[in-house]
Amino acid sequence: MTAQESSPVSAGRGEPLVVLKDVQKHFGQLHALKDIDLTVTRGEVVVVIGPSGSGKSTLCRTINRLETIDSGTIMLDGQPLPEEGKELAALRAEVGMVFQSFNLFAHKTILENVTLGPIKVRGMKKADADKRAMELLERVGIAHQAEKYAAQLSGGQQQRVAIARALAMDPKVMLFDEPTSALDPEMIKEVLDVMVDLAEQGMTMVVVTHEMGFARTAADRVVFMADGAIVEENTPEEFFTNPSSDRAKDFLGKIL
Ligand code: ADP
Ligand code: MG
Repeated sequence: MTAQESSPVSAGRGEPLVVLKDVQKHFGQLHALKDIDLTVTRGEVVVVIGPSGSGKSTLCRTINRLETIDSGTIMLDGQPLPEEGKELAALRAEVGMVFQSFNLFAHKTILENVTLGPIKVRGMKKADADKRAMELLERVGIAHQAEKYAAQLSGGQQQRVAIARALAMDPKVMLFDEPTSALDPEMIKEVLDVMVDLAEQGMTMVVVTHEMGFARTAADRVVFMADGAIVEENTPEEFFTNPSSDRAKDFLGKIL
């Protein structure tokens, strides 16, 4: 197999990649995830929307096992999520995560932020990691700032670096949890543009966002959550023009 064929973004498009079956999660008395069944296929872009507190972040966090689940199963690329140890570290490398807060190391350069994971977790040689990081920084439009410290960049630039950092681990899937919610309005587009570009290149993505423009243009499917459950799943066209549930109608009425 050539590198191109084995690339996670080009091979096996349409096969199930992330599969959640009957996932339940409680925080004490609170039933945070209820009977979650969700399959994300390779190359698919799933946008998760829903009111605050509906379980969107918890859903993302269970997929890279930042949260445990009470019951049900989560499979990534045909394997159940590992419980702990090296396997769990390997899983985390395969699931890229971009949060609202970028969490870059402020005292390290942009380049160091992106190469840290590949060197420490993947055991990549520094020269190789640097080369790959520069390609990714080029892709997100930050290559010329590679030697700056994270704190010297704008929020939008830092978030693009955070995306490059996640991509540097060659993830099978990228999870975005409200990646533009902490940004000033003028910086939102530069981050969404990078995400649209990623989607067009075939990256499998689960995106929690309130950016309905992104959902309309980039999503293959919209998943609407309320009170810990998936209430509705549909194409963006159907979801936005003809939502079937009252919860979704109510939500869309408030935000559109
Ligand atoms: P969303 O991302 O859709 O706003 P969350 O997944 O963050 O929702 O939260 C879902 C529910 O679970 C909320 O009621 C929230 O308060 C609760 N919750 C989330 N994380 C925890 C936690 N670590 N401990 C207790 N409750 C939590
Ligand atoms: Mg959230």
